[in-house]
Amino acid sequence: MPQLIADRAVLRMTSELGQVMAAARAREQAGERVLHLERGEPDFDTPPHIVEALAAAARAGETHYPDARGALPLRRALVDKLARENGIVCEADDVVVTDGGTHALFLAFQSLLGPGDEVLVLSPHWMAIPKLVGFAHGAGYRTLPAYLDLGAGVLDAAAFAAALRGALRKETRGLYVNTPNNPTGVVLSREQLAAIAEVAIERDLWVISDEAYEHLLFDGARHVSLGSLPGMAERTLSVYTFSKSYAMTGWRVGYVVSPPALRGVMGPLLSFYTTHGVFPAVQSAARAAIEGSQDAVETMRRAYAERRDLLLAGLAGQDAIVVPTPRGAFYAFANVAAARGGRPLWDLVHEWLALGVAVLPGTAFGPEYGDWVRMSLATRGEDVAEAARRLREHVVAARTAREPV
Ligand code: PMP
Repeated sequence: MPQLIADRAVLRMTSELGQVMAAARAREQAGERVLHLERGEPDFDTPPHIVEALAAAARAGETHYPDARGALPLRRALVDKLARENGIVCEADDVVVTDGGTHALFLAFQSLLGPGDEVLVLSPHWMAIPKLVGFAHGAGYRTLPAYLDLGAGVLDAAAFAAALRGALRKETRGLYVNTPNNPTGVVLSREQLAAIAEVAIERDLWVISDEAYEHLLFDGARHVSLGSLPGMAERTLSVYTFSKSYAMTGWRVGYVVSPPALRGVMGPLLSFYTTHGVFPAVQSAARAAIEGSQDAVETMRRAYAERRDLLLAGLAGQDAIVVPTPRGAFYAFANVAAARGGRPLWDLVHEWLALGVAVLPGTAFGPEYGDWVRMSLATRGEDVAEAARRLREHVVAARTAREPV
């Protein structure tokens, strides 16, 4: 029998999310009800005007091979959006429309990493990052825990810059930063981003700035784009997606803005030879999304904020599950050290599945997070509230059972 799997570590990596979803599905097939706090998939439908734009474009014959860089009218609209919302000044040639943010990150790592290079990943990080780095042959990554301390205000900008400097090695070529952050909901401030910029410029590093959740902000938090900071345009690749802002996960459309030095690489080579671009009618719909009414974006943002409040209120009155308040994205990262009580984290995850609550183990987001789980707010508010109620009752009962009478 031929060897059917190439001898590459990245092809052997398993997914924690896949494991939790399979365990949840098995319970559902056995007739149990599971509240899905493990997935990061908006439960909203794509706004109708975007769907209509797709249909109209497809009917009008936008069905032929796309420009692998993206349709010029969309790239021009994105240049305007980037200047208006992100403070990023670029040209249409510096924007490449991709098959979602995932593909944009894939292209970014492919273009920047060679054998022996490493990227320093601020953690906790989105779980796809190790795999996306792994596809760049011979390249590696290390993590630097950052978001929880930055969000809690226990790491000031100067100490953060010092931690960054201390974590760099000679093979470190760049940094991966994600704000608002999946999974913590931390939104980095201008000052914190300036600390990253200072070190990146000083050590001549590139930076991938993943801004997938740029529109999902709570409590008046402001999103700042790293690429807009002085001296950063020439070293920053900024990644965006329509998936979250417009509930367009299935459409597979996002974009990446890169320094002009990468013009000949991102679109003509990497995009062309991976996907040959995005369905033209989808690109017209994406243009309708950014040029049309933003009311739906605001409606969804408010819904996520309400669900965050429901989760925090539902978990109040117990101290075994501690949730730093998320200021953006649609997740809560919960410290469950007390609830876990020395058992393996997966035991806790399965115990909660038996209660009908699916969450994702924190180790999916970096090796340091064995005391954490991610709870997604991208599910109905009633389900978030019900999950919080079940968890609170469960941990309170467990504690009462342990206490001497
Ligand atoms: N970056 C982050 C931080 C994400 O959480 C996600 C999706 N979960 C993405 C990028 C990519 O999303 P998509 O490919 O759907 O655009």
